[in-house]
Amino acid sequence: MPNLYNTRNINEKVSPSLAIIKGMAADQGLYCFKLDEILKFDLEAWQKLNYQQLAKVLIKHFFDDLDEKMIEACVLQAYDSKFDVPECVKLQKYGQLHVLETYHGPTCAFKDMALTILPYLLTCAYQKQQINKQIYILCATSGDTGKAALEGFKDVKNTYITVFFPQENVSYIQAQQMLTTSGKNTNVIQVKGNFDDCQKIVKDCFEDQTLKDNQSIQLSSANSINIGRLVPQIIYYVWSYLQLVNNGTIKMNDKINFSVPCGNFGNILAAFIAKKLGLPIDKLIVATNRNDVLAEFIQTGHYDSRREFHKTISPSMDILISSNIERLLFILSNYDDQSVKNYMHQLKEQGHYTVDATIFEQLQENFVAYTFDDEMTKQQIKKLYLETKHCLDPHSAIAYAAAEKYGKLPTVAVATASPYKFAKDVCQAIDHSCKKDDDFDYIAALASLTDEPIPTSLKYLYDLPINHHQIITKDQGIQVIINNIKEMIK
Ligand SMILES: *Cc1c(COP(=O)(O)O)cnc(C)c1O
Repeated sequence: MPNLYNTRNINEKVSPSLAIIKGMAADQGLYCFKLDEILKFDLEAWQKLNYQQLAKVLIKHFFDDLDEKMIEACVLQAYDSKFDVPECVKLQKYGQLHVLETYHGPTCAFKDMALTILPYLLTCAYQKQQINKQIYILCATSGDTGKAALEGFKDVKNTYITVFFPQENVSYIQAQQMLTTSGKNTNVIQVKGNFDDCQKIVKDCFEDQTLKDNQSIQLSSANSINIGRLVPQIIYYVWSYLQLVNNGTIKMNDKINFSVPCGNFGNILAAFIAKKLGLPIDKLIVATNRNDVLAEFIQTGHYDSRREFHKTISPSMDILISSNIERLLFILSNYDDQSVKNYMHQLKEQGHYTVDATIFEQLQENFVAYTFDDEMTKQQIKKLYLETKHCLDPHSAIAYAAAEKYGKLPTVAVATASPYKFAKDVCQAIDHSCKKDDDFDYIAALASLTDEPIPTSLKYLYDLPINHHQIITKDQGIQVIINNIKEMIK
C-alpha cells in the first residue's frame, strides 16, 4: 500500500487518510509518496473511462486505504453539475496548440478541480481513522482559494468553514463571490488588515491551547500543501492524454508536452508525478510571470527568493516561496530527507539555495521554463483573440505563450481561469482604450467580444444578497473562532 513520508524526516510514515487529515507534518515538512512504491499507470485499461470513472480509479490508486465505494461517492458528489461541462474539463484546439480548460467549476478557476472533492475525501479519511469530531476548516485567502474552499465545503455534513480575507485587498468580484456564499455551515469574515494578518489569525488558532484541547472539534485546513489537493489534479493530465489518443491526434505511448502557469507549483507537480508513473510526457513547461523565481530555478538550479515582489495581472502566480518545490526536491533527491531539510533551512535563513548536480540534471531533463511580463501577456491575449476570437485569461495566456515559445508539438497548454474572472485585463488587452465603471460592465463588454457564454456563477453574482457581514480587527480573530465553536457544539 502506498504510504506518505515526511519530506524532512523519512522515518515519519503515514497512511493516505492520516496525511489528508494532518495536511502538514509538525516540523513543517510535507507529506509525499515514494513513487517507486506506486504502481505504474495502466493507460490501456483506462482508455475508455469518462472523467468521473477515471477520477475514481486514480484516487484509489494513490489513496489506497480509503474504501472504494466511499471514493466513488466522493467523486459523484464533487464532479457533478456544479461543473458546466459534463467531463468537468474541456480540451480545445486553438492554433497549433491544445488548450486544456480546467476552469469550468463553480468558482471559474482550476482550484475547483481539487477543492470540490477535498471536503468529501476529508470526511472519508475521518471515518477511516474513526474520528467522530466535527471538522472546522480555517482558511485565509488573498482571493481565489477562499471562494473555492467555501463552495467545496458548503453544506457538507459535519463540517464548518470560516474564511478570513483582507477587507481592502481583494477584487470587487472576489469579495462579492465570497460574501454571497450560501450554506448553513459557511462563515466569511473581513479583516481590517492584509493577507498576512489573516494568515496569522489562522496560525494562531492552530497553536491555541484551548482550541487544541477541544474534544468535539478538529481544526483543519484547505490550503494547497494538503496531499488531498494534489492527487485530484493528476486526473485531468491523464484524461487529456487519453482524449488525444481517442480522437486520433496521437497514438498510445506517443509523448506530449504540457505547459502550466505556475505559482505554488502544485498543478505542474501533479503532471510531473503522472510522468514518473508512466504518462508519456516529454517536457513540462514552467510558465511564470514577472515573479520569475521558478523559471530561474529550472534554468539555473538556483532558487532565490531575495527579490522585489511584483503585482501583476496574473495574481495567482505572484508568489516567491513556492511550497510544492519541497516535494519535487524530495523526489529528485531520491527521497533524501536530510538534503531537503538543508535546502529548506537555507531558504528560510538566507533566502536562497542551489541544488546539487544530480537534481539539476533532472530539472533540465524534465522541465523547461519561460517568463512573460504583463505587456507580453496582453499581446498574447490579443493575438489569439484576433486569430480565433477565443479569449484566454492572463494566467492561461502565459501558459499558451510559453508553449509557443518552446515550439515542439504536440503540446497542451493548461488554462487555469475563465477569462471572465479577469474581464477588465482581458478587455483592455484586446482594446486598450476600453473603460468601464465596474467589473460587471467589463464582464458584459467581454461577452460582446467573444462567443463564450458568461459562467452562470458570475452572471448572477451582482444580484445575489450579501450573507456575511462580519468585519473584525486582526486581534479579534481567535475570539471569533472560539465563539463560533460554542455555537456549533450547543
Ligand atoms: C493557483 C493558480 C495558479 C497557480 O497554480 P499552482 O498550483 O499554485 O502552481 C495558476 N493560475 C490560476 C488561475 C490559479 O488560481
